[in-house]
Amino acid sequence: MLLYTFHSGFESMSHVSDVAVIGAGVFGAWTALQLRRSGRSVTLVDAFGAGNTRSSSGGISRVFRIGYGHDALYSRWAQRSLTAWLELFRDGRLELFTQTGVLWMTRSDDPMTDETVDTLRRLRVPFEILDRAELERRYPQLSFGPVTRGVLESEAGVIMARRAVQAVVRQAVRQSVDYRITAVTPPADTEHLESVRTSDGDRITAGTFVFACGPWLPTLFPATLGDRIHPTRQEVFFFGSAPGDRRFAPPAMPAWVDFAGGVYGVPDLEGRGFKVGLDHHGPPFDPDLGERRVSDGALEVARMILTRRVPALDAAPLLEAHVCQYSNSSNGDFIIDRHPEMDNVWLVGGGSGHGFKHGPAVGEYVTAQLSDRATPEARFTLAAHGTAQQRKVF
Ligand SMILES: Cc1cc2nc3c(=O)[nH]c(=O)nc-3n(C[C@H](O)[C@H](O)[C@H](O)COP(=O)(O)OP(=O)(O)OC[C@H]3O[C@@H](n4cnc5c(N)ncnc54)[C@H](O)[C@@H]3O)c2cc1C
Repeated sequence: MLLYTFHSGFESMSHVSDVAVIGAGVFGAWTALQLRRSGRSVTLVDAFGAGNTRSSSGGISRVFRIGYGHDALYSRWAQRSLTAWLELFRDGRLELFTQTGVLWMTRSDDPMTDETVDTLRRLRVPFEILDRAELERRYPQLSFGPVTRGVLESEAGVIMARRAVQAVVRQAVRQSVDYRITAVTPPADTEHLESVRTSDGDRITAGTFVFACGPWLPTLFPATLGDRIHPTRQEVFFFGSAPGDRRFAPPAMPAWVDFAGGVYGVPDLEGRGFKVGLDHHGPPFDPDLGERRVSDGALEVARMILTRRVPALDAAPLLEAHVCQYSNSSNGDFIIDRHPEMDNVWLVGGGSGHGFKHGPAVGEYVTAQLSDRATPEARFTLAAHGTAQQRKVF
């Protein structure tokens, strides 16, 4: 609904909705869609547009696994989310998920993999355990070094992140979400937020505001989130295999994670190259001003990983490389809570290095919280999040 209001002597348009969602990354986009599906009127705003290159959701691809060690909550969320993503893609006739399988590479003393196996079994998620000999037989294009075992989640895969989040927003717009590209200025301190201003001189009025601004949250809410969300610089590299060599594309090559080694990989999809991602947290990063030129040091590490793990790509040319940022909470748990002073403002973020897949479940959770019926998960509250970085969720 549009209202005309008089503000500071100028006539300006005021967008009025039940809920305004600020930020159309994967968390905000799904939140807007799920809120709309619950019958609310929704305005969705993004400073640069859904899936923009600066956002954490703006990368080419994201690994979609179900396993999370003993952590059944994230595994259940990943299961539910996968169903929601696949429904969205099926309805839109989109091919944005590839069932590559996800291979956990694990060393002998790795309790997380044993816990993952237990959880997958309990949740009836299909998987296979591969001993070293079987790993070598199935994946002769890889060299396993200290890896003693593999767990292959056969129905897991890779989601094309940027286009997937844009598809969510298109669906939201089809369902009458009012979507606008403009930047919201930080709200003034108040007990109840009536409206926010935007960079185009407009004003958005809503009953409830959800700020899902990823790595921008600490600057928008410095007192509450300045110490609780730490954006870090993360680098990914795409290497090219030899002409006609299909060993690094599905079905020969799955996505893979090696948490002990601080690295993960995605097979060649859409001819973009074999992706190597460095998962160790990089230095602090400013999402607005940070230069997105990859560092020589990180490229050297990525090449070292190729030499050790994928000898056939030892001298492969670099095709593309990107700098993105994780929005790390203290331990990797998401932050989804009401603002401590503003009673109608919700903060949704801290996706850290694993949030993309969970977009639908995050949207569902926020929708339930806004209806006042749901009990909050203690781990997502502000109170549960310290300020020191001690990563526990991978
Ligand atoms: C390199 C890399 C690899 C990753 N790998 C995986 C993986 O394999 N699997 C996985 O599940 N997850 C992965 N993740 C994590 C996942 O991508 C993030 O957790 C997720 O994208 C976070 O989404 P978000 O919506 O919270 O934030 P964002 O995507 O950053 O969205 C925030 C949005 O808010 C907007 N915004 C900010 N300020 C304002 C303002 N003032 N006004 C209006 N709009 C504003 C921005 O423009 C942006 O679009 C990875 C992340 C990175 C960086």
